[in-house]
Amino acid sequence: MSDCLFCRIAAGEIPSKKVYEDDDFLAFHDIRPIAPVHFLIIPKLHLASLVQCEDTHQALLGRMLLLAPKLAAEQGMADGFKCGINTGVGGGQEVFHLHLHVFGHPA
Ligand code: 5GP
Ligand code: ZN
Repeated sequence: MSDCLFCRIAAGEIPSKKVYEDDDFLAFHDIRPIAPVHFLIIPKLHLASLVQCEDTHQALLGRMLLLAPKLAAEQGMADGFKCGINTGVGGGQEVFHLHLHVFGHPA
């Protein structure tokens, strides 16, 4: 989607500080971090939020979640980290392309 910020980041049209990339996911540092380490994991597939996810997205969601501990460890958060998925206006979501916040402190 050309009018979606995170689709444009995934396409490389808007620069980001990349943490990880494969065929289906991109992870990059949040531009306004709320912790010393704060990155976002997004599927390259445009899904507006968790509300738009269906049974067919089960594997994608599972793989996104499983990336969190792997990338958190690579970013030095050996003691643990926090995860969040803001969902919908009432959930404080600002960018309507599904993303998993991963944040915390390096150990
Ligand atoms: P939300 O509130 O939708 O869960 O979070 C969106 C996040 O995206 C915010 O934490 C915000 O700082 C981050 N963000 C917004 N625009 C950009 C951008 O252009 N680049 C990066 N790296 N992060 C962004
Ligand atoms: Zn998108």
